[in-house]
Amino acid sequence: MTEAMQPFTEEELERYARHIVLREIGGTGQQRLKAARVLVVGAGGLGSPALLYLGAAGVGHLTVVDDDVVSVSNLQRQVIHTTGRVGMPKVQSAAQTLAEINPHVKVEPIEARLDDGLAADLFARHDLVLDGTDNFATRYLVNRAAVAAARPLISAAITQWEGQIGLYHPASGAPCYQCVFPAEPAPGLAPSCAAAGVMGALPGVVGSMMALEAIKEITGAGPGLRGRLLIYDALYGETRTIAVARRDDCPVCGGGAV
Ligand SMILES: [Zn+2]
Repeated sequence: MTEAMQPFTEEELERYARHIVLREIGGTGQQRLKAARVLVVGAGGLGSPALLYLGAAGVGHLTVVDDDVVSVSNLQRQVIHTTGRVGMPKVQSAAQTLAEINPHVKVEPIEARLDDGLAADLFARHDLVLDGTDNFATRYLVNRAAVAAARPLISAAITQWEGQIGLYHPASGAPCYQCVFPAEPAPGLAPSCAAAGVMGALPGVVGSMMALEAIKEITGAGPGLRGRLLIYDALYGETRTIAVARRDDCPVCGGGAV
């Protein structure tokens, strides 16, 4: 928490009243949200609801990084964007929506593809990272940078009718993403949403869970998803949670780290 605590205005007290009355959040938790700096990688299906709820919740500084533009085929699920913004960079569209929802949030849109250098710079100046990207190469890059910067990472993924979410943070004893997913699946075994399809409301559920777990992490409410992977089967309406652990031979956070 890098910013000094400032008293809430009357408008903020009214805006956040339903959080402030919650025992697990309260005024202290709401101040922590205001002081927090959260980085969201990807303004797509998962990033859209995550950003909407983090913005509405009053996270003080939200950075969003994405190099894509809004397309018509995004609009079935990427609910932060609108038809009138087709062709606009997603980070600009997201910033515009967030400004309309909550003017107290400072939004930093970064129109770029994440690489190692940018990740190192961004992760060092944020408290928490959310990864809603859709490919293993970026997820591994995000994980490496999060481990290097000792930042907690909430990473989620969706395909067709199934989603998953976990919190990865070796600095507090939890596994890193690569402990749990040590190798990229063979080509064809993990098809993209474009190839395999995705149920539109599914990222709404899982992306909202990302925001919810982020708010818990920032405010200290509840036990969170350290060492647990939550899997949601939307077709059957079932969730299950499996225990996950650090691996000594993990190339990112284990003894084999370079
Ligand atoms: Zn690891």
